[in-house]
Amino acid sequence: MIVTIDGPAGSGKSTTAQRAAARLEYVYLDTGAMYRAVALGFLRAEAPATRSGAEAVLPSLTVDVEYRGDTMQVFLGDDAVTDRIRSAEVGRVVSDISTLAPVREYMVEQQRRIGHAQADRHGGVVLDGRDTGTVVFPKAPVKIFMVADIDERARRRLQEYEAAGEEVTFEEVRAEIEQRDQQDRTRDIAPLRRADDAIVFDTTDCTIAEQVDFVVDRVKAQDGRGT
Ligand code: C5P
Repeated sequence: MIVTIDGPAGSGKSTTAQRAAARLEYVYLDTGAMYRAVALGFLRAEAPATRSGAEAVLPSLTVDVEYRGDTMQVFLGDDAVTDRIRSAEVGRVVSDISTLAPVREYMVEQQRRIGHAQADRHGGVVLDGRDTGTVVFPKAPVKIFMVADIDERARRRLQEYEAAGEEVTFEEVRAEIEQRDQQDRTRDIAPLRRADDAIVFDTTDCTIAEQVDFVVDRVKAQDGRGT
């Protein structure tokens, strides 16, 4: 079973996907974390977010994931970068780097490989991102498109930054996610959009428990149909 959850920043995808995967005893694949790891690779190499930057950086860059219990660890080469990719600095550059065709080709190939391998091993994978239902797994039997009010999304992201000890204001976070969404929606390759067969789920007034129940119920309903 492949389950995709796409949507704009802060709509609740990651927490929901992670907890739904745990309840279903599936594996969670955070595709945004993989793009963030590539972005960190660009920052470390001081490479620009351009095609020639990608040509310089990608041949010696690998991004992979490992699972420890329910948590996904992200690796940039041999370096565990799971925490470092959450910085505001990575947040500022990741969307630019995610527009580059060679970056997307590499990511989609890795995500399909990991997704198939984990689904074979564990019976299912829940992916979250921007194009998981449109490009990575367009035939996924369960697709959800999560949305939420911009102020609510900014509040959620601010809490994450504060928990990580970053000093940013609500206005800065709101502006960052607004700009990132705009860029993700309007890019040429694999823009953020709802797949035609994805269910829209507005999480503005939902608790995390309600969000998780929604996803688990959709998967069980689909399983009941024998697919
Ligand atoms: O999900 P998260 O907010 O961590 O994603 C960071 C960025 O990575 C997004 O703003 C987007 O530019 C990029 N991304 C993407 N395709 C995905 C997942 C993330 O382009 N499937």
